[in-house]
Amino acid sequence: MQKRTLIIGCGLSGTVLAERLASVKDEEVLIIDKREHIAGNVYDYEDKKTQISVHKYGPHVFHTSIKEVWEYLSKFTKWHYFMYRVKAFIDGKEVNIPFNLDSLHKVFPKYLANDLEQKLVRTFGFNKKVPILELKNTDDKDLQFLAEYIYQKVFLGYTMKQWGVKPEELDFSVSARVPVYVSLDDRYFQDTYQAIPLLGYTQMVQNMLTHQNIKLKLKTHFDFKDCKLNANSKYEYKDFGEFDRVIYTGAIDEFFNYTLGRLPYRSLDIVFERFDKEYVQSTAQINYPENYDFTRAVEYKYYLDEKSSKSILSYEFPCAYEEGKNERYYPIPDEKNQKLYEEYKKLTKELKNVHFLGRLADYKYYDMDKTIARALSVFAELN
Ligand code: UDP
Repeated sequence: MQKRTLIIGCGLSGTVLAERLASVKDEEVLIIDKREHIAGNVYDYEDKKTQISVHKYGPHVFHTSIKEVWEYLSKFTKWHYFMYRVKAFIDGKEVNIPFNLDSLHKVFPKYLANDLEQKLVRTFGFNKKVPILELKNTDDKDLQFLAEYIYQKVFLGYTMKQWGVKPEELDFSVSARVPVYVSLDDRYFQDTYQAIPLLGYTQMVQNMLTHQNIKLKLKTHFDFKDCKLNANSKYEYKDFGEFDRVIYTGAIDEFFNYTLGRLPYRSLDIVFERFDKEYVQSTAQINYPENYDFTRAVEYKYYLDEKSSKSILSYEFPCAYEEGKNERYYPIPDEKNQKLYEEYKKLTKELKNVHFLGRLADYKYYDMDKTIARALSVFAELN
């Protein structure tokens, strides 16, 4: 008999598994999502009033150096090649982010910028990436001065808004995502492949779900009440009914009914605003570490180079995730949360035929390409 798989969550992880199981293994798949749309947090749509594509859950620019991931997605979408360039508003100037050698010359007088540039190149090498928390550890007094400047101006305010804590209170990897770049390269990413799906992420996901073996049910909740720990604190799941296998891509703590406590997540209040002018800002994304309560402003027409006399921007106001009030966007990578996650992970080992993956189920701050790579590797393990 053909195997049947229930997939919970129709974001990138769930969609990749559905597509692979259906088209490679010819299995039947039911994929459910509590939202009224597919594609999870990469969902995009055309804003009717401006006819510009926007990302409902904030900016998503695809980038990867994993050839396998690029080739896999390329089966479902054509691409608009796009190298991301981000600026931050610092000391009244728009400077490149990651903070690079050009940024240095924007914010410091010439003699000072020249000195610091030479020291940076001599100490770390040209075209090298230096995480801010590493730069802060330097013994050199001038570089300490520079590190403190960048820390204060680029990282502290932004991170306090985004996460509610200082950079050093989070896992090192979070601020290291946007290192200081001893380079003239002004791109946000240096990956081999950088692009945006030509017809959008939603269409790409839609294309992945077309196989006849895949059934999709939106606005459908997974019933967590069926999951509980029994008296011996062994985990049991009662009713997967007709399904041989379950792929779960939602929040891991919710799956287990918060038995061990709640894992915290950050959320965003994303406010969209339309403008009656062609362009509002100089580039797609401007960060505001020092000003306002939002972290960044994104002007969407830059992404697909859409032409319009109007424009639409989003402003992100970070906040804590609260059940029923807003959505989970980011796991919060720190030691305490990682420990709790590990405890939940132990419970998953007691479950046969239930597979956990994705940003929420793995409690990991994955980029889109790492999400796809993880889903492909889970599929390989199922084989
Ligand atoms: N960050 C910062 N200032 C910036 C950009 C990034 O402090 O101008 C820090 C901040 O903590 C942020 C993290 O680096 O959450 C990762 O930034 P990224 O742009 O990768 O965040 P994402 O696009 O995933 O929200």
